[in-house]
Amino acid sequence: MAKQTDFAEKAKKGMQEKGVKCPKCGTVKVPTLYVQSVRTPHGTYRFNRSRVQVCKCNEKMIFA
Ligand SMILES: [Zn+2]
Repeated sequence: MAKQTDFAEKAKKGMQEKGVKCPKCGTVKVPTLYVQSVRTPHGTYRFNRSRVQVCKCNEKMIFA
């Protein structure tokens, strides 16, 4: 039984390298650079860049 568990763990890791599947929509999450303009209290704008995992649940929010 130990061998089967090892194999399952390795298979899991192999999948995680390619991308994490979203449990909600089943789409593989794609790492995307998300740039958001943020207004500072001084009235100027600066850009927040962050890496987000995009799947069908949030792609409309990210790419809108
Ligand atoms: Zn999703």
